[in-house]
Amino acid sequence: MNETKEAVFLVKLGELVLKGGNREGFEQILRRNLLTMIRSRLPGARVVSRPGRFYVMCAGEQVAVLEPLLGKLSGITGWARSRSVEKNVDSLLAACVDEGKRLAAAGVCSFKVTARRSDKSFPLDSYQICCAAGDAISAAVPALAVNVGSPGGVISVEIREKAYVYSLGKKGLRGLPVGSAGRGLLLLSGGIDSPVAGILMAVRGMGLDAVYFHTPPYTSEQALAKTLSLAETIGSYALGVRLYTVNFTEVQKRIKERAPEKWSTVLLRMAMMDAASSIAKKNRAKCLVTGESLSQVASQTVENLGCGESRAGLPVLRPLIGMDKEAIIVLAKKFGSYETSILPYADCCVLFSPAHPVLRGSIREAGELYAGLETEPLIAAALGSMEIHKRGYYEPRKKPYSSGAK
Ligand code: ATP
Ligand code: MG
Repeated sequence: MNETKEAVFLVKLGELVLKGGNREGFEQILRRNLLTMIRSRLPGARVVSRPGRFYVMCAGEQVAVLEPLLGKLSGITGWARSRSVEKNVDSLLAACVDEGKRLAAAGVCSFKVTARRSDKSFPLDSYQICCAAGDAISAAVPALAVNVGSPGGVISVEIREKAYVYSLGKKGLRGLPVGSAGRGLLLLSGGIDSPVAGILMAVRGMGLDAVYFHTPPYTSEQALAKTLSLAETIGSYALGVRLYTVNFTEVQKRIKERAPEKWSTVLLRMAMMDAASSIAKKNRAKCLVTGESLSQVASQTVENLGCGESRAGLPVLRPLIGMDKEAIIVLAKKFGSYETSILPYADCCVLFSPAHPVLRGSIREAGELYAGLETEPLIAAALGSMEIHKRGYYEPRKKPYSSGAK
């Protein structure tokens, strides 16, 4: 397509269209999120809402910026760059032929046409549009054969206020718009799992803050920088993340001094849950989110998860609980967090890990050991000096924004 002309993108709304009476609210949040994402990056772009659809109009040269943003927008099933032409049969068929040539140029050999006619005054009904467009494309593009059963590509026609023609659509994240499902506090380490857990919750509509417990000088500045960079990636999906960094050195030292070594990871997790719950409650987060996966490591047996959770004053959500590492890595690569996560800087848990950890901790014993640590003043001091970093926010645009017809 012509890169200098205005580009029209059809954005299909996802699951939120099923939400009955709530649908309007979900659509408004999604629209606001889309505007937030494109506001600073695509000057002059417009968004027009239609039932089950948004149209984004931008300059041809902005397409390369828009598509990666749409790839991070939860609540949409997909998008396609679309031809928009006058609503008459000749213009429509010409656009279909052009789209057929684009399909053939992309190496596709067979096609079918689907049509939706919202404007019933158009002279052809949906079936007639499919037949006429199929004939016109076959005649003009010999490399493309009709195959209704299993086509290589689908050319879609929609007759609305204009005639739209598109193919080669891209898949969106699906899920629900960020901000439609409350706010959670993600326990973010520098590993592979917790960033994936956070992004999955964002895709499910949850706004996020995050907390990182570090142990200077045992953990490095690079480990902190790595976590900030992961927060940036998570924020690009969650429309911004506030990352709280909490110095846990004194807590870790206390555990080392007073507790049997084999219990140290479980007790550390309990202290993290304790501290994270206080941060969450003060910042209106409704739950904690972790990257734990059942039995992935000793601290994640169901018994040890229970010990950690016993110190959480809020629901603990673990979106990865039933996933194996390979599946988590696939998601980490898809979301763009993997390359940062595998940088080699160790976090505090690795440095203080016992050689023979307790595997099936009892909540009663864990509770007694934890009480003996007297962590309350240490955690209070750590929270008193915690730092807050904002990452992944989309900058507002200076000039007023043209949002198009509603
Ligand atoms: P990850 O890949 O997310 O680091 P992991 O497999 O290494 O996970 P653990 O180190 O046992 O597992 O951590 C389990 C979960 O506890 C993490 O997913 C994260 O939610 C939380 N967590 C671990 N370490 C930290 C930390 N330093 N700061 C904040 N949260 C942490
Ligand atoms: Mg870890």
